[in-house]
Amino acid sequence: VTHTARVGSGARGAAVTVLAPDLIFHQGRVESGLALAVRDGRIERIASAASLVEAGHTLERLPGRLLLPGFVNAHSHAFQRVIRGRTQWRPARGQADFWSWREAMYGAALGLAAAEIQAVARFCFLEMLLAGYTTVGEFHYLHRDEHGQRYADPLELSRRVIAAAEEVGIRIAHLHVCYARGGVDRELLPEQRRFATPDLDEYLRDVDALIAAYRSSPGVTIGVAPHSVRAVPPDWLRPLHDAASSWGVAFHMHAAEQPAEVEAARAAWGRRPVELLADLGVLQGGTCLVHATHLTDEEVRFVAEAGVVVCACPTTERDLGDGFLRGQELLAHGGTVAVGSDSQTIIDPLEEIRLIEYHERLRRLQRVVLGGNETADTVEPAPTLLRIASAGGAAALKLHAGELQAGMHADLVGIDLEHPSLAGWTEAALPALLALSAPSAVVADVWVGGHRRVTAGRHPLLAEAALGFSEVARRTPLLSALTGIPPRRQ
Ligand SMILES: [Zn+2]
Repeated sequence: VTHTARVGSGARGAAVTVLAPDLIFHQGRVESGLALAVRDGRIERIASAASLVEAGHTLERLPGRLLLPGFVNAHSHAFQRVIRGRTQWRPARGQADFWSWREAMYGAALGLAAAEIQAVARFCFLEMLLAGYTTVGEFHYLHRDEHGQRYADPLELSRRVIAAAEEVGIRIAHLHVCYARGGVDRELLPEQRRFATPDLDEYLRDVDALIAAYRSSPGVTIGVAPHSVRAVPPDWLRPLHDAASSWGVAFHMHAAEQPAEVEAARAAWGRRPVELLADLGVLQGGTCLVHATHLTDEEVRFVAEAGVVVCACPTTERDLGDGFLRGQELLAHGGTVAVGSDSQTIIDPLEEIRLIEYHERLRRLQRVVLGGNETADTVEPAPTLLRIASAGGAAALKLHAGELQAGMHADLVGIDLEHPSLAGWTEAALPALLALSAPSAVVADVWVGGHRRVTAGRHPLLAEAALGFSEVARRTPLLSALTGIPPRRQ
């Protein structure tokens, strides 16, 4: 039962909901006795439950729950959910790597009809909500039909993916991808024909049209996303960045995910991808580089000090054999880090953040590497990791979210304190239990813009969305048969 209180005429009767969980994760600590007032989709204030009752509000009690800011998935390709479990093989006489995986992924991208892309995205976004992601940054590069023709409505697939997000109620930052080349100084490949945006002005008009179309949609923002230095000519990057700045929208780009990309850039321009981007002037505060795995010491320092957000996708980077994020160095230089589920191999924000710490341990043969809450005697990285999952992603997507603070979107997750993986919890141990041990199945309740989307682990569209997705997935064979393309190096 939802109890809402109404305030006086000064607020024109707008309903205030006051959520009163057992515990709130607030300013890096777990605290009890606090409640959170929500109005018009935003957090109005956080105060003691007792003072809010005194002010005349009725509390919506959330027994057995710890409330956190919703997790932000800053980098996703929703359609790739359909190839989960279908690329975990290699040729008996050969090897599998990022590039062979990419061939398989292209095969899936070519085979999906528009309605199927929507069905896959809808289920993928629902799975994200169940895991506690309240926002997805959808790096969307499926623009054209199976034959490479623009749809009658050139924004057909963007609209369908955004509609999928709206259906299940996840906030979406639709990062419209610019994709013009098949590789450094190479024509687009036939299997990349659905991605093509061959004309810069046409691409910018498309983004402008999207911004206008969704200006009044509260859960939708649009961003500019040149795919990578492989896929976009260098002389387009500054105009793209300037357009994003003038619109005030997010600017995202893959960079330095693979050594082969670094080498191709050096061969073509005599500079590494991040050096090239820095020279072009696009590595300014708020730019988001996705992966940024293969950085030199200088590049790490430059990126961190410029205020560039690095979106790590550790479960995908692990799956593809990309390499390790230089997380400790980025954070030590004051950098901002976000996470994304990227290829959807795993959709679990807690797994993403803990790999940032655990990968450092494996690299260094040490325990407890990252900084965080510090006392004279101890350093605890869990609060840092939890901030990466929420505030880091919000910074990447330019959203007023990711913190329990007045004025922020009321995007929230309620953790089930009775989940077996948390048994024995104390307030002091909870951040570490979440960040370093628990699965995302501990997420019981999810609110987006103050609206409850998930209740006790259930979403109302789960059965329907799963059925629609399964029908598409069953038509997707193991990708060796689908592509008929032998793995090939770029
Ligand atoms: Zn990606």
